[in-house]
Amino acid sequence: VLNYFETKCRRSKALAQRAAGVIPGGVQHNLAFNYPFSLAMERAEGAHLWDIDGNRYIDFLQAGGPTLLGSNYAPLRQKVQALIEHCGPVTGMAHEYEIKLAELIRQHMPACEMFRMLGSGTEGVMGAIRLARAYTDKQWIIKIGGAYHGWSDQMVYGMRLPGTGRREAIGIPGGSTAHTQECFPNDLEALRRKLWLNRLRGGTAAVIVEPLGPESGTRPVHKDYNAGVRRLCDEFGALLIFDEVVSGFRIGMGGAQGYFGVRPDLTVFGKCLTGGYLMAGGIGGRREVMLLLAGGIGNTSKRAFVGGTLSANPLSCVAGYHAIEAMAQTGAPLLAGRAGDRLCKGLNAIIERLDLPYVAYNTGSVVHLQTSAVLLMSMRKPIKLMKEVNARKHMMEEMGAAYMAHGIVTLAGSRLYTSMADTDAVIDEALNRFESVLGM
Ligand code: PMP
Repeated sequence: VLNYFETKCRRSKALAQRAAGVIPGGVQHNLAFNYPFSLAMERAEGAHLWDIDGNRYIDFLQAGGPTLLGSNYAPLRQKVQALIEHCGPVTGMAHEYEIKLAELIRQHMPACEMFRMLGSGTEGVMGAIRLARAYTDKQWIIKIGGAYHGWSDQMVYGMRLPGTGRREAIGIPGGSTAHTQECFPNDLEALRRKLWLNRLRGGTAAVIVEPLGPESGTRPVHKDYNAGVRRLCDEFGALLIFDEVVSGFRIGMGGAQGYFGVRPDLTVFGKCLTGGYLMAGGIGGRREVMLLLAGGIGNTSKRAFVGGTLSANPLSCVAGYHAIEAMAQTGAPLLAGRAGDRLCKGLNAIIERLDLPYVAYNTGSVVHLQTSAVLLMSMRKPIKLMKEVNARKHMMEEMGAAYMAHGIVTLAGSRLYTSMADTDAVIDEALNRFESVLGM
């Protein structure tokens, strides 16, 4: 594997060496692989990426999830180019596409009665939490252990340095996380206890979940879990926030909320909004709650502030509108889901053939290739298992590099997103490559 990187990726290696001098850690993007060094991509089209040394990869990273239409989807590119030529990327004034996008989101996800466009998933989560606190006049936010909701101060709560128990992220004052709690995944009784306790000390503003399960389904949820969370939120007067940064549109045009038949009060969007074409994020939700962004119903003085100079730029709005429209017209979630099913089934067949202690599981186009029960268990006893988790994480890194050396890009060696560009031929080629790596 290392030989591949040394001999076939010389230009990437030279860039990585340059990057180390000016970019902290040598990578700008938190998804990029740094082991043995990150590969620089030059071209992206459909199901494939090409690095600057000319090597072709089947892309299951999908920019971290959003490129459901396949990379660099030409009809979308044309709409974005047309807007640039006509009005440039930004004016700071209103644009009709802002409205068209909000209407289209509501059409597919009726719980998003109103929509506020922002710049990223992290911003969407920050805004949703602020809105929940403003609306309920309560402070506590409950998140689920192992879930990722971006890097805001209050949400990196619980990420610990392996083997130490110390917070992974430093530079965050204790007060920032003083009202964030973590609850075990898939455990409604534990959630009820937290909500009950919080009632005695001011109350819970919101429960925020990744509806597929923490880290978007790595720890999958029981099929009735989300409905159970909804019921508990209603019982305790807390808002339910669905973080659909990954699941939105990917799991179906109605998002995970459509898939599970659960109506959240607020929905957070991120990269999924433009099919990964441009930066975007936002909050959709109940009118009564959302109006707090505008000073509340009947213009009370209650106002929750969120903002962003470039956040509703016409380019992101046009990309969002046409991406969602194209996903609906082409049936992208279904096509990508079928590819995910084929990939998952094929991986399990390989695992069985090679008699490996691994498993693949999926929800449509979100496929997990789990090579370590320890990582799954780590959700319950995070600190005790940390040494083991650390070792396993390094193993995943090595596996990710091995897949890459065989022409497959994954997310952290363990998550694979499929797109509608993944034809049967692409999946079958990928399965052949996976078999070579898993059989090593
Ligand atoms: N929520 C989830 C579920 C995510 O997967 C991510 C990003 N991977 C975020 C929030 C944060 O989004 P962003 O990186 O756009 O800030």
